[in-house]
Amino acid sequence: MSKPQSDVIVLGLGGMGAAAAYHLAARGKSVIGIDRYQPGHRYGSSHGKTRIIREAYFEAPEYVPLVRRAYQLWRELENGSRQALLSIHGLLTIGAPESELVQGVLKSSEMYGIACESLERDEIMRRFPGAVPSEDMVGVYEPTGGLLDPEKCIDVHLDLARRHGAGIRDGERVTSWRSTSAGVEVVTDQDTYRAGQLVITAGPWTGRILSNLELPLECWRVFFAHYDSVKRDYYTPDACPITLWDTPGGSYYAIPYLPGQGMKVGRHDTGDVVDPETMKRTVDVAELRRQTEIIERYMPGSTGRVLEAETCIYTVTPDHHFIIDRHPEDENVFFACGFSGHGYKFASVIGEIMADLAEQGRTEHPIGFLSADRFVAGRS
Ligand SMILES: Cc1cc2nc3c(=O)[nH]c(=O)nc-3n(C[C@H](O)[C@H](O)[C@H](O)COP(=O)(O)OP(=O)(O)OC[C@H]3O[C@@H](n4cnc5c(N)ncnc54)[C@H](O)[C@@H]3O)c2cc1C
Repeated sequence: MSKPQSDVIVLGLGGMGAAAAYHLAARGKSVIGIDRYQPGHRYGSSHGKTRIIREAYFEAPEYVPLVRRAYQLWRELENGSRQALLSIHGLLTIGAPESELVQGVLKSSEMYGIACESLERDEIMRRFPGAVPSEDMVGVYEPTGGLLDPEKCIDVHLDLARRHGAGIRDGERVTSWRSTSAGVEVVTDQDTYRAGQLVITAGPWTGRILSNLELPLECWRVFFAHYDSVKRDYYTPDACPITLWDTPGGSYYAIPYLPGQGMKVGRHDTGDVVDPETMKRTVDVAELRRQTEIIERYMPGSTGRVLEAETCIYTVTPDHHFIIDRHPEDENVFFACGFSGHGYKFASVIGEIMADLAEQGRTEHPIGFLSADRFVAGRS
């Protein structure tokens, strides 16, 4: 029986994999982390300067314990690295009273006693004059909503992983993997690695890497734009919180005007289904104009000259919940994918969960609702 070269290989070092590599290395495991691109690259799902974090989770209350641990771990990471990664700005969710977003925020905040304020339209406009909901809309304000710096978080996780001895191979593409009697063997375009366990966190490419599982993953091309707001004073973080809008023209997020970044806006509820290898990575003037027109209705003067517009990828499951599990046929292989456009905030706790799974085959974190069983037929 050949000896594994390392305890664990982490395949994919975006938001999730970088955190997994860090947690494993910090626990004294020997780790090899592999990514086909350089950290901070723009081809996957973890680029774009900001990611929202919020606690009153409209998608499902089951995420609340996970996001609470994520907040803690982000703060611990800041303390350990002496880097600022998370900033709190407050978050306002706006939509019709019966909308999925508004109802979802209220449900989670009631179940978990999260301090949120329900606001009528007039009160929203009085407190945040840049936000102009239509007559039939209300809001819920969550003071602890904030922003993470995703590229910096990845850098910090990988830097600390290296300091704990992890070998980070970037610019190296995994071409295949297989189970062996001693664990797993991973072949890249440059080398072959062996390990006891394999953690797969390959974002939009996970469906391809785990093709035999036929996971129902769809890659959506989405885009976001940074604007030099015409009415900047209305949209700085002092004047306007992060906003989530459930409008008849779609769901949008708007991140206040930040120095060097402008105001960032993107659509959340839909995207073109694409292959990450061949997708168009430029943003058309026409699609940008459609977004600008809608957001101007609710945040007049928030847009202006486009400073930057970028594509990104959501890897979406049919129920928009994540998939975290052990491979049904390979007991040494674990995977986390299908983050459906809302996973980044959890990256710190997903790293901890993947480390638990690789180390002990189980985790204390309540992730049963994220199991692949709900999609993979024939599993016990
Ligand atoms: C525009 C946009 C806005 C978003 N906003 C938010 C938000 O506000 N809040 C939030 O919580 N979430 C948000 N999300 C979702 C969140 O960013 C993602 O869920 C998260 O980044 C997914 O991380 P990941 O590690 O799974 O994927 P990725 O970051 O894509 O990482 C996968 C990595 O695997 C590597 N890889 C793939 N195949 C191979 C291979 N064969 N060999 C080697 N390496 C490989 C890739 O190069 C990549 O680096 C947003 C997403 C987008 C696109």
